[in-house]
Amino acid sequence: MAFHGSSRPTVCGNLFPGSDLGHKYFCVNTTTGTTSTGGGAAIPQPHSNPASEVPSPAEMEPDRPIGYGAFGVVWSVTDPRNGRKVALKKMPNVFQNLVSCKRVFRELRMLCFFKHDNVLSALDILQPPQIDCFEEIYVITELMQSDLHKVIVSPQPLTTDHIKVFLYQILRGLKYLHSAGILHRDIKPGNLLVNSNCLLKICDFGLARVEEPDPSRHMTQEVVTQYYRAPEVLMGCQHYTSSIDVWSVGCIFAELLGRRILFQAQSPIQQLDLITDLLGTPPLSAMASACEGARAHILRGPHKPPSLSVLYMLSDGATHEAVHLLCRMLVFDPAKRISGSDALSHPYLDEGRLRYHTCMCKCCYSVPSGRVYTRDFEPPADRPFSHNYEQSMHSVWQGKELIHRFITEHQQGKRVPLCINPQSAAFKTFIRSTAWHSSKVSRKEER
Ligand SMILES: [Zn+2]
Repeated sequence: MAFHGSSRPTVCGNLFPGSDLGHKYFCVNTTTGTTSTGGGAAIPQPHSNPASEVPSPAEMEPDRPIGYGAFGVVWSVTDPRNGRKVALKKMPNVFQNLVSCKRVFRELRMLCFFKHDNVLSALDILQPPQIDCFEEIYVITELMQSDLHKVIVSPQPLTTDHIKVFLYQILRGLKYLHSAGILHRDIKPGNLLVNSNCLLKICDFGLARVEEPDPSRHMTQEVVTQYYRAPEVLMGCQHYTSSIDVWSVGCIFAELLGRRILFQAQSPIQQLDLITDLLGTPPLSAMASACEGARAHILRGPHKPPSLSVLYMLSDGATHEAVHLLCRMLVFDPAKRISGSDALSHPYLDEGRLRYHTCMCKCCYSVPSGRVYTRDFEPPADRPFSHNYEQSMHSVWQGKELIHRFITEHQQGKRVPLCINPQSAAFKTFIRSTAWHSSKVSRKEER
């Protein structure tokens, strides 16, 4: 679609006027060049800065938890170097085994790779101690006020304008990720962070991986929160593509419209049943790569006709255009499902695009005569994300060395390094909550 400099959408409303995240943010002080690990041993900093030019490393004290990702806890903190409120994420259990080592390193590298306004990225990584004491990784990202799950379950009004601008940004971020060859694999409302000005960022890359081009290679089925899990994953397909993320976005789109979870089942089998209740019994061709048990389950049941017209009853916002796009995302056969990139061309998203680029984006700007728009409204990644480094990681110790070197190199020549003050009361609370959450996660994983 074409934009004109004089076009102005309606006001970009503040969605969270009563947000409670503005309360006290912790203190910060600068220290001399020593810090310590959780064990308490003082360790010299690898960075020694000329005292006259650069301040010594600054301490950070966590203030309060703001969320729990698939792997890790997030707290709000203030960056002592500029007073800016940011989010601090501890990546726990990094060096438990080679699998966790690779997973955390992948997420860390992704967070440092991303350069897109609708994808959360690392602003900084806290300075690691010497390698012998290196056990945890702390990453600083932008602090967002809420997430789409909290918005959906809140009593706050959610207008069609909100839905359009949210959906536009989800797909804009997803196009970027997919163009870099990355599957998110856990797109759900809680992983879509939003600000009071409706800016949205995809977060939590704990389950993300690089797309597998070889269809004969098996991929894990332990992905995606069940309500947002694509039918091919539910049916045990050994190989899947970025279209699993588009399915999740379709579910979220319906949830934004209806303000309730579209397919809220108690088990994966029931999840599949709810999907076929809506879409009808899929043709055999759509189940070609499904596991035998799942295919037999579908064929054993009664033949179901599609009942897509119920989507019009989600809300008044479920217009023809909205339902048309929704039905292109909620396609049983992943090969026939719309891509994130193509979904952006759907007319339903034109208003969201206009709104985003008129008063929310960083890629366009205003001059006295009007708005100067960017050439590419939905830019792809400038290169694919590379995961070749994983092949050279054969042991936990080797992984530790690689990660330590990566963080140190990442920081070189940048700002004053940050470290945590492990003696502070706030940090002790932080560690306690992290440990509590880690045990909860591992229990969940055992099931
Ligand atoms: Zn723009």
